[in-house]
Amino acid sequence: MSASPRVRPDAATALIVVDVQNGFCTGGHLAVPGGEAVVPVINRLARAFGNVVLTQDWHPAGHASFAGSHAGRQPYELIQMPYGPQVLWPEHCVQGTHDAALHADLAIPHAQLVIRKGFHAGVDSYSAFQEADRRTPTGLDGYLKQRGIGKVFVCGLATDFCVAWTALDARALGFDTWVVEDACRAIDLNGSLAAAWQNLAAAGVHRIPSTDIAG
Ligand SMILES: [Zn+2]
Repeated sequence: MSASPRVRPDAATALIVVDVQNGFCTGGHLAVPGGEAVVPVINRLARAFGNVVLTQDWHPAGHASFAGSHAGRQPYELIQMPYGPQVLWPEHCVQGTHDAALHADLAIPHAQLVIRKGFHAGVDSYSAFQEADRRTPTGLDGYLKQRGIGKVFVCGLATDFCVAWTALDARALGFDTWVVEDACRAIDLNGSLAAAWQNLAAAGVHRIPSTDIAG
């Protein structure tokens, strides 16, 4: 039997479930390998939390992060935007489409807030806290702090982009921040997964398996 200490979420703790949407699961427009495998893990995990926030990537048609919005560009190329480097993606998670809907098997009826991000046509937003211009807040920081929440656990899709950016921003904003490693899946583009784990560790973000979180 494992003797590892178990973490028990309290009223000052929230689970942030990042982008568990059709678009990032098998058959989606930007499918993360094995993306849907996080769904049963997150459903079980979420029962341990009184506070749960969901996020949805939520782009207008023709969004600046789509390769098709830039003449002569292909998906997964890196370009320079006014706010910095931007990976170009296949068109995904367009507002109101099936691709943008939460996965049908995600069962967290007690989730209290859905943060939609990436809705400004010219700016991407991997992070649930701040858009890619690094200036425009989503409001999540204020929401959590006004509710007295100081500790967050982050899970979902994809580990090396939206989960990592959300966790890094949470840490920078002063939250005690944990990534639930088996409740995430990665895209892993040119070593992005290893880089993400390095950046998270360097920032003081903790890693934890879902089995160490007590319900
Ligand atoms: Zn997106």
